[in-house]
Amino acid sequence: MKKSLFIPFLLFVIVSCTSKSSVENETTDATDAVSTIRVTDFRPQVVNNIPKTYVEKAKFPIIDMHSHDYAANAQDIADWVKVMDAVGVEHTAVMHCSWIGRPFEEVVEAYAPYKDRFRLWCCFDYTDIDTPEGLAASLATLERYHAMGAVGIGELGDKGEGDLYARPVEGRDIHIDDPRIKPLIEKCAELKMPISIHIGEPIWMYLPIDETNDGLPNGAVWHVDTTNCMGYYGLVNTFENAVRENPSTIFIACHYLNMNDDLPRLGAMLDKYPNMYVDIAARVAESAHTPRATRDFLIKYQDRVLFGTDNGMTADMYRNIFRVLETNDEHFYIHDFNYHWALSAFNLPDEVLKKIYHDNAERILTEYK
Ligand SMILES: [Zn+2]
Repeated sequence: MKKSLFIPFLLFVIVSCTSKSSVENETTDATDAVSTIRVTDFRPQVVNNIPKTYVEKAKFPIIDMHSHDYAANAQDIADWVKVMDAVGVEHTAVMHCSWIGRPFEEVVEAYAPYKDRFRLWCCFDYTDIDTPEGLAASLATLERYHAMGAVGIGELGDKGEGDLYARPVEGRDIHIDDPRIKPLIEKCAELKMPISIHIGEPIWMYLPIDETNDGLPNGAVWHVDTTNCMGYYGLVNTFENAVRENPSTIFIACHYLNMNDDLPRLGAMLDKYPNMYVDIAARVAESAHTPRATRDFLIKYQDRVLFGTDNGMTADMYRNIFRVLETNDEHFYIHDFNYHWALSAFNLPDEVLKKIYHDNAERILTEYK
């Protein structure tokens, strides 16, 4: 009886809202749009009535363990400090490497007026590293940079062809477990300088550029062709060898070791190696499209994770990260990251936030000394 009353009502709604011809036209237009809108043009606007939280300043003081010499001049540095004050960043690690930095001596000079706000990191000098003289010179340079204020080494960067981030010469075919640089890594332990290293790229950059690639927009742009170089898991092995063979040296794997796709594997490595840390720099989208798995990981490894940005100097850049770490917002897009994924935030407990924002970095930079 109920059923027979309900059917006419449904029919009435359908007939009164649409005509047959308009349904046909809309269907045709919609089909066209679905087949012609490009993934890179996909810019959905969230219509849900759900919380959208603006975090102006971080809940706790921050040590940013992954940034670079983005400032073009003294005014840029002064402006950067104002932004850091506004968003709550106490110190920023300025890591110097060939494709973005200038000679270390110039970096020291440029940031000298704000010595208490920036901590400088230097590179390994691989000049003539194959010869005893070259190695001795490289060790001497490391000691000199340390005396000039370098607190760590980095960002080293190996995407398959060796540490190409180094300066004044690139470390082509020099991976982190290369016996030639073991004396440098041991020297870092002696000088209490942690080593920050970028290994590989996120997994989507290695997958086929086709409709099955879940990270397609960036997977295509940053695709890694491993025909003539070491692939991702080979690189992870070099990193693991170095961490295992140098237990007195602290290693920081940048960007979650580019292993956001396999946090259980990353966690197993952290379980095994107490001298290993990860930073979360520049992996907002790669982590916030799996918010529950990432939240669990960050809570479980709250003593081993470091805050980092690696993405310029604007206040909005910092605030996007705070929103992801601090709030409980869900289903939002940050199109700057060039993925099509909707993101959700982690709502981290205060004690975890405090460690990731500040305390873990402070421990590495002071207690390790
Ligand atoms: Zn970086």
